[in-house]
Amino acid sequence: MVHSGGHQADIGVIGGSGLYSFLDDVTEITVETPYGPPSDSLFIGEVAGRRVAFLPRHGRKHHLPPHRINYRANLWALRSVGVRQVLGPCAVGGLRPEYGPGTLLIPDQIVDRTKAREQTYYDGEARADGQVPNVVHVAFADPYCSVGRRVAVETARASGWEPVDHGTLVVIEGPRFSTRAESRWHEAQGWSVVGMTGHPEAVLARELELCYTSLTLVTDLDAGVVAGEGVSHEEVLTVFAANVDRLRTVLFDVVGRLPETDERDCLCTRALGGLDTGLDLG
Ligand SMILES: [Zn+2]
Repeated sequence: MVHSGGHQADIGVIGGSGLYSFLDDVTEITVETPYGPPSDSLFIGEVAGRRVAFLPRHGRKHHLPPHRINYRANLWALRSVGVRQVLGPCAVGGLRPEYGPGTLLIPDQIVDRTKAREQTYYDGEARADGQVPNVVHVAFADPYCSVGRRVAVETARASGWEPVDHGTLVVIEGPRFSTRAESRWHEAQGWSVVGMTGHPEAVLARELELCYTSLTLVTDLDAGVVAGEGVSHEEVLTVFAANVDRLRTVLFDVVGRLPETDERDCLCTRALGGLDTGLDLG
């Protein structure tokens, strides 16, 4: 079913099918956006009494590499069905020996090392539907929702999976993994984990006044941290699969503890305060 708006869900989760395939009663809807198609359909179901829209970031067949994901369409699609709070779980490499496989880290900072991604809605370029956005600069000093982060940390802790609270996620262009020199450089900067999808997901959420919280799961130690052959894709998939059950459990508990949409009181809700974007956000 093609869907172009209306209220279907409050909370969005950008992550793979392992997160929603256990739900009863999932409705699949196709959403069109002014930016083209999102990575896949939205899968909408109920979790902890809340309506949640799941979006497989890489497509259900995992056919989209990180640099080819249509991040603008993904965030726009979620907002268009009513989502105002987004959880973005993702696999990352650890940049410190103590952040080994199975570590859950809730970052509070991000470093953008991507090279060629559309990372704003407000570029002054006319869209396919004729609307022309103004050029707008949003504040991004604190890239994640303070409330969402706190809920994620407290929920993981209560479940017995002590998370690393704070840390910097450096996002690389990919799809290749880092060289040893790059990895050692990232580590020397004091950054915590490295991934390929956290940017521009977070900033696009901010531009739409969505709350965005990243939950990073370490699947490997990055190339500069350990001797050996470096990171392999197989290793990443194996560790992710081994942790997906407890990640889903924590995510679902977080969903149940997020504020109601109209009770949000974080800065995300005022990211565009006083700015004329030129766009109808709906
Ligand atoms: Zn927020």
